[in-house]
Amino acid sequence: SVNSSGNISVHPHGTDTMSHQEIDLLKIVNKASDPKAAGGLGLQLPLIVRLPDVLKNRLESLQSAFDFAIQSQGYESHYQGVYPVKCNQDRFVVEDIVKFGSPFRFGLEAGSKPELLLAMSCLCKGNPEALLVCNGFKDAEYISLALLARKLALNTVIVLEQEEELDLVIEISKKLSVLPVIGVRAKLRTKHAGHFGSTSGEKGKFGLTTTQILRVVKKLVQVGMLDCLQLLHFHIGSQIPSTALLTDCVGEAAQIYCELVRLGAHMRVIDIGGGLGIDYDGSKSADSDVSVSYGLEEYALAVVRAIRFVCDRKNVKHPVLCSESGRAIVSHHSVLIFEAVSDSMSNAQGMNPVGFQYFIEGLGLPEDALSDYRNLTAAAVRGEYETCLLYADQLKQRCVDQFKEGSLGIEELAAVDGLCELIANAIGVSDPTRTYHVNLSVFTSIPDFWGIDQLFPIVPIHRLDQKPVMRGILSDLTCDSDGKIDKFIGGESSLPLHELESGGRYYLGMFLGGAYEEALGGVHNLFGGPSIVRVSQSDGPHSFAVTHAVPGPSCRDVLRVMQHEPELMFETLKHRAEEFCGSGQDDDSDGDDHGIGNAALASCLARSFHNMPYLVPA
Ligand code: PLP
Repeated sequence: SVNSSGNISVHPHGTDTMSHQEIDLLKIVNKASDPKAAGGLGLQLPLIVRLPDVLKNRLESLQSAFDFAIQSQGYESHYQGVYPVKCNQDRFVVEDIVKFGSPFRFGLEAGSKPELLLAMSCLCKGNPEALLVCNGFKDAEYISLALLARKLALNTVIVLEQEEELDLVIEISKKLSVLPVIGVRAKLRTKHAGHFGSTSGEKGKFGLTTTQILRVVKKLVQVGMLDCLQLLHFHIGSQIPSTALLTDCVGEAAQIYCELVRLGAHMRVIDIGGGLGIDYDGSKSADSDVSVSYGLEEYALAVVRAIRFVCDRKNVKHPVLCSESGRAIVSHHSVLIFEAVSDSMSNAQGMNPVGFQYFIEGLGLPEDALSDYRNLTAAAVRGEYETCLLYADQLKQRCVDQFKEGSLGIEELAAVDGLCELIANAIGVSDPTRTYHVNLSVFTSIPDFWGIDQLFPIVPIHRLDQKPVMRGILSDLTCDSDGKIDKFIGGESSLPLHELESGGRYYLGMFLGGAYEEALGGVHNLFGGPSIVRVSQSDGPHSFAVTHAVPGPSCRDVLRVMQHEPELMFETLKHRAEEFCGSGQDDDSDGDDHGIGNAALASCLARSFHNMPYLVPA
């Protein structure tokens, strides 16, 4: 919400609950970034604010949506979800999910060996019944690790993503004397037509076809391990747009589940993958690329209803329900805060229209350009604005040509540019959109905007008691024309923004970016990730406490990512400074040793290696 100071406030338990506790985002930014404020942390922006209370609320809301659906539908088993760590592998996020989800057996999903390692270690502190679902393409090492996890009494399921993985599972489990629990990922016929569903359907990239599933069953029978097959998984893609499509795919999967039961597998769990969507643009529409037409409750109800319907018809015991919702769990809990550091000034700023005539005529422009100028002013006096614009264009082009030839100076060209902009403004055909330069890298912090045109809500986090009078696009720090945000929620090509105040700060927040963005972000132009603070509700005077703070990667850190050796680089530059710069003191008063000395230069260099690559505001 917006509080009485005009700042955005976070209500971890919603605005309609009894708890009126709110956390003012501007206060967090001030505390995190101001080194002089009491308890200030001196962190640099951009800043990710993580709110574990929101994470807890999301988990509990998902669980209660399923609990309610199960109860209201008379479903005879329970829901126990897993969090796919790929959405955000941050240690604190994963540890929080394991801790908050422990009362309801919430587990983790891994899709690679490092993800499995982190999931194994985090789940050691979780509920022993929590599932550890092993997805993704697997080699012998991955499978050994997953089997080892079972030996460590973690409730691990190896989900076959490719048919060939089964031979490895059989062979290694015998070698290690571990009885595996096996799942299969089914390639469903139901196709998710949206952007995130491009790998779903019969020709999809992932999972086993019905023929392959049958061969897996046959092989397990042959080796006497059919009782190990206990889970059926599918994932048709993220952002499933409607409950109609959800019902369709869950129903198809439930049929496969029942068939596996009929064939003698000891099936226990149906894992419906991810896909629980987020309403990024607030439209609640299945037709929007960045929205879905249901909420948590409708989602859970559709799943429970579809599975119960199929199982009841086939007389099959209701399975444990598992989902791998990632986006829906972690998107809300983090806010990316960045600063607008400047905006594009108009050419005409500071020009006085009355003085223009004398100015232009005194410039000594060639006769043809002067004649354009006189025609232009005459058209303006007659109110013929189109003609006026025509002459303005002609004048400008003539002057550009003459500048290129070298017969017009830069001052004259700038004056003509200013005049043309003034005319466009007066006639109302100029583009009023300004470019706000923001202390951010789109490639690092909002990669899905660059890569797949995904939109996120972006809004100033303060001054919301003042009407924004400008419209702007956001241009990032990278030297890349794609490094800008010029599409916004609601199909807008610019954002309502306030005028920058001299000496004041202007902070913007990007919301709902807690899933995928951090994990996908790259180091284009060697900008690393933002600083991070973890902020919990507290009863203190600010109603919040910063429980963890990490500065973003330094120049040194990002250089290492590309195999540079910052220590060696520093030594090379330091020697160079000793060779080319004196001590900085004019010892013999002959005037040849002054300015910055090599020691000061070395300390300046050391600071640059140590600091983050982003702009440090003055
Ligand atoms: N499970 C699997 C196998 C996935 O590939 C993904 C993401 O693509 C997820 C779960 C998470 O999906 P979502 O973030 O839509 O919940």
